[in-house]
Parts: sequence; C-alpha cells; structure tokens
Amino acid sequence: MKYKRILLKLSGEALMGNRQYGIDPERLAEYAQDIKAVTEKGIEVAIVIGGGNIFRGVAGAMNGMDRVQGDHMGMLATVINGLALQQALEDAEVKTRLQTAIKINEVAEPFIRRKAMSHLRKGRVVIFGGGTGNPYFTTDSAAVLRAIEIEADVILKGTRVDGIYNADPEKDKEAIKFDHITFDDVLRKGLKVMDTTAFTLSQENDLPIIVFDMNTRGNLMKVVSGENIGTQVSL
Ligand code: UDP
Repeated sequence: MKYKRILLKLSGEALMGNRQYGIDPERLAEYAQDIKAVTEKGIEVAIVIGGGNIFRGVAGAMNGMDRVQGDHMGMLATVINGLALQQALEDAEVKTRLQTAIKINEVAEPFIRRKAMSHLRKGRVVIFGGGTGNPYFTTDSAAVLRAIEIEADVILKGTRVDGIYNADPEKDKEAIKFDHITFDDVLRKGLKVMDTTAFTLSQENDLPIIVFDMNTRGNLMKVVSGENIGTQVSL
C-alpha cells in the first residue's frame, strides 16, 4: 500500500446516487464496502463529508437568506450525512467515530485532534462532520485542514469524474486528462480542483491531492495501492 493514513473527501452530492436530493442507501452501502476493503489492508481512514445534497449556504443566500444562517444549515447537513455514513459503515462491521466541528454532544464526539488520531491508530474510521465549524468555508477546506492536522499522507477527493482535465470532459469530447499536475500548473491553467482557500492550504502544506472516480467499485483500493487511475496534484 502506498499510503498509511488517508483523508477521503466525499461531497454530499456523491451520496445522492441517481437521486436529485438526499441520500441513496445503495450508494452509501457501496462506499462502505470500498472503505471497509482499504481498512482491512491496515490503511487508516478519515473522512470529511460534504452537505450539498441537502443544503448549501450560498444557495440559501441567493434566495434572500442570511448567509451565516444558511451556512449553519449547511454544516448541520454535513452532520446528517456523517450519521448516515457512520451507520452504513457500522452495518458493514467497520468501527467508526463521528466527530463534529460544532458540538452536538448527544449525537457525536466533538472534534479533538488527539482523540481522532488515537481512533485512527486503533483502526477506527473517523468521520469529520460540521466542516470547519465556520461559515464562509467549504468542506473542501475542512478536508485539507483536517488532513494536515491528523498528518494524513494524502487527500483523496472522490468525485464522479475520473480526474482533472484541460476542459470539462462532460462537455468537451476532446478533453485530455492529466495523470499528474503541479499546484502551480493548476493555477496557471485556471483549472478547478478545489476552492481557492482549500487549494492554497494544501499547496502551502505540501499535501498532495488525488482526484479520482469514487463511483467505480474498487477504485479507492486502486488509489491507495498506488495505481494512477486519477489525477495527482502535488508540488
Ligand atoms: N459549510 C460551512 N463551513 C464549512 C463547511 C461547510 O459553512 O466549514 C456549509 C456551507 O454552507 C456549504 C455547506 O455547509 O455550502 C455544505 O458543504 P459543501 O458545500 O462543502 O458540501 P459539498 O459540496 O462537498 O457537498
């Protein structure tokens, strides 16, 4: 295995499967099996989960809602997704802990870095909910922040596309995929990997990001074993 400790970022939308909203239990069960397989190889897995399948603060603000109020709703949405993912993993007999950036003590542990690392060493999958706990941030930023804090080797951004292209592959058939690309080249070419805050934090801390297609079963295992199926962004 190439990595010992990974931070897997899953967007809320990934949990929708083919639905328009909410959570698809089948998709969740598939993710749980893929995550289980890598934990069985001794990989330590932390997960940051998004909330876009339920609510986004920006969308609320566009409809006249106070942005901070909307972001609070978005952060709580990530906790809902975290609980769903926790259940799916436990159904697959994977030991988990959910830690949240906003305290909801009856429901989940608060985020405590040393505890999170201790859980990981014991082979428990740690799910981080609530993003960074601050409005105006995204769960991509939370993913990078937590990855640095827990000293993960890499961020694995599971998406529905299989990497970073020089054009939108869903619109342009001629689009070419990069196997590797540097942080500087992503910026120079104006490509979109994560939002600027998240991306810069990753670059400044020399934390590589791998973008890959999480919706093909077995891909997560391929990535952690070092197979180059997505795009790796590094210095
Ligand atoms: N959010 C926030 N602070 C954070 C992380 C998330 O306020 O640190 C809110 C924000 O409103 C965001 C929503 O939670 O739109 C859901 O997160 P995100 O959009 O990152 O989810 P994803 O796109 O990954 O599903």
